[in-house]
Amino acid sequence: MAPIRLTGISGARGIGTGTVYVYKQEDIRIDTRTIERDAVAGEVARLQGAMEATIDQLKAVKSKAAESMGEKEAAIFEAHILIAQDPSLVAGIQGAIESDCLSAAAATEQTVAMYADMFSAMEDPYMRERGADIRDIGDRLLRNILGMNPRGLAHLTGQVILVAEDLTPSDTASLDKNVVRGIITTAGGPTSHAAIMARTLEIPAVMGVGSVDGVESGMKAIVKGTEGEVIVEPDEAEFAKSSEAAEAYRAHLQALKQSASLPAVTKDNHQVLLFGNIGKAQDASHACHLGAEGIGLFRTEFLYMGHDELPTEEEQYEVYEKVAKRLEGKPVIIRTMDIGGDKELQCLQLPKELNPFLGYRAIRICLDKPDMFKTQLRAILRAGVWGDVQIMYPMIASLEEVKAANALLEEAKAELRAENVPFKENVPVGIMVEIPSVAVSAQLFAKHVDFFSIGTNDLCQYTLAVDRMNERIGNLYQPLHPSVLRLIKNTIDASHGEGKITGMCGEMAGDPLATMILLGIGLDEFSMSASSIPVVKEIVRAVTIEECREMAAHVLTLETADEIRDYAKSVLEAKGIEL
Ligand code: PEP
Ligand code: MG
Repeated sequence: MAPIRLTGISGARGIGTGTVYVYKQEDIRIDTRTIERDAVAGEVARLQGAMEATIDQLKAVKSKAAESMGEKEAAIFEAHILIAQDPSLVAGIQGAIESDCLSAAAATEQTVAMYADMFSAMEDPYMRERGADIRDIGDRLLRNILGMNPRGLAHLTGQVILVAEDLTPSDTASLDKNVVRGIITTAGGPTSHAAIMARTLEIPAVMGVGSVDGVESGMKAIVKGTEGEVIVEPDEAEFAKSSEAAEAYRAHLQALKQSASLPAVTKDNHQVLLFGNIGKAQDASHACHLGAEGIGLFRTEFLYMGHDELPTEEEQYEVYEKVAKRLEGKPVIIRTMDIGGDKELQCLQLPKELNPFLGYRAIRICLDKPDMFKTQLRAILRAGVWGDVQIMYPMIASLEEVKAANALLEEAKAELRAENVPFKENVPVGIMVEIPSVAVSAQLFAKHVDFFSIGTNDLCQYTLAVDRMNERIGNLYQPLHPSVLRLIKNTIDASHGEGKITGMCGEMAGDPLATMILLGIGLDEFSMSASSIPVVKEIVRAVTIEECREMAAHVLTLETADEIRDYAKSVLEAKGIEL
């Protein structure tokens, strides 16, 4: 068979080889007809075997989750194990097999639904959530009874190239980077959750390849994450050569990590701030281990997502306090809620919109719901006593929004003061520059904020009118476009004019091709997925600020993103820096 070549968009750098696993959530089909009486004992045995397998799998998932996400996150699986081991659940299912002559699968479906509905109808929110747990366990048990693959990816072994339409946070939670050596998605782009996760886990990934017709589990594949290319069923020589390159890449990553404790300074002693982007409190440690000297973007929306209720002040405070303490005095920029666009919010039931990226989102929701916003601001202000906590507003389009947000911040402070609750009075407040109206008029905004942080993920989509989630136009999504670079430069010049710092927390900050250009146009702080820090630091330490300025001056004379990209590549290659 001739190799199948697929082209997509780079999601995470590097090269990986392995055996394809096509990840599809198979629907469970259950035969509800009654069984013969003499088949009952066999079905009971099948149930017991499947229950043992379910408990073993849950134990394995729990220890993996504890390793990758921490004990607290893994506690949910401990609760699942306890429910699965509860004799009344098995007895209930067994009773349905024996008394109603149902198959093990039909009896499980019926019994689990009954228990789950009972819990879901309870008043107490804690008990209600147990309904979802029972459904989850029931799903796993059913798959074991029917000999299907379990949901999730924790069961994978060997060296796997994962092929999926897209990956959800719960899919990636069970993903083992020693097993999954490459990711290919048919949908999504470089800023999708799957891509961000792939970069965090350092798994080479190609996004948005479109159709994967003819690609099946068990085939060999090469994922060239840097180039955005995939080769399925390559010839043996090519597979062997790429496997060697993949091993070399993994070794190179290991070596880069040794540099975590080295300072981020250029050869001519220009100091650069390299920060990490995080979405969960426990990611802060990973970022620090890889050399982050601060957190330039803490995306707080994950606190709001996947829950029926808005997070309380206390729940938020606990999380922000944890991050502030973990950073031991280094800066932590907490971004206020940025829901909308691609992120849905179950607890607010927002209606579907025709243009969600241009709609009711982020600061627009917060200003419309001042009580909800002040709850978050109070939690951040209180956490401020534990470290260098800073506040950042997302999706700012006009100065009125900055002023309105600041007025609510002052109200939150006044409330805390009146209640005698300790908080940090002089928390620095900055804005994300991710809407062109702000980048174009950055001079007007610079006076009113303590810092800017450029969100290139959105700035690029709004400047170029390219939906960041639409893989069909992924080739038009070009952070190195001359217009985007000019907006970035204008923002930096404006903030420097007011003696303020400019950071960048969009994905471009972690793109090695952009590092020298951004240094050259004066970016002070680069905040990125933790896994990008070592390679960006390697570049910072290998160059002088003078040569970066010269390079940036030349880049600003070039006319297209392709020319800029080719030029940046040639400069890095000449320096012997591997991408
Ligand atoms: C950005 O837009 O660049 C950014 C960092 O925010 P998000 O990706 O969360 O929209
Ligand atoms: Mg954004």
